[in-house]
Amino acid sequence: MDYKKYIKIVQDWPKEGVQFKDITPLMDDGKAFKSAVDEIVEFARQKNIDLVVGPEARGFIIGCPVSYALETGFAPVRKEGKLPREVIKVDYGLEYGKNVLTIHKDAIKPGQRVLITDDLLATGGTIEATIKLVEDLGGIVVGCAFLIELSYLNGLEKLKGYDVLTLMNY
Ligand code: 5GP
Repeated sequence: MDYKKYIKIVQDWPKEGVQFKDITPLMDDGKAFKSAVDEIVEFARQKNIDLVVGPEARGFIIGCPVSYALETGFAPVRKEGKLPREVIKVDYGLEYGKNVLTIHKDAIKPGQRVLITDDLLATGGTIEATIKLVEDLGGIVVGCAFLIELSYLNGLEKLKGYDVLTLMNY
């Protein structure tokens, strides 16, 4: 399916110079959204995954229907202060300043096979931090799936050695 026709490019948002890829028109179309989720489900099906992990907030939108289809659990990765119980955390650099991501300490059991989902791969900082959280808990990252890759930002370089699926490229 030609998913790009469902992506709206928003100039200068959230700040000047950024061409934001808005995925909400894709989510708004039942057939297109189902088709995109189904492609990720098929990618993951052969990998015998135990769990899907996704960073807030759009990683949940992609990851939850995948976990439902495969009857696995879903574990959320969230910004600091959002998860109610004991967490582990990782710091990662942003263009300006830094960000902290967390996951519940008991969300993953050692040896569990994990698929990570997010809507978009840009510099790769978010996915790299999410992988670190999963691996610090003993999980095995068997794949990473995104709707969109911004290839000009070279995020894939941070994912060498991991099996990656992307449905669109800019
Ligand atoms: P990275 O950490 O790879 O630089 O940025 C990826 C993260 O930022 C993802 O969690 C994604 O949701 C968000 N993001 C960055 N740029 C965009 C964009 O243009 N569109 C959307 N939908 N998300 C973006």
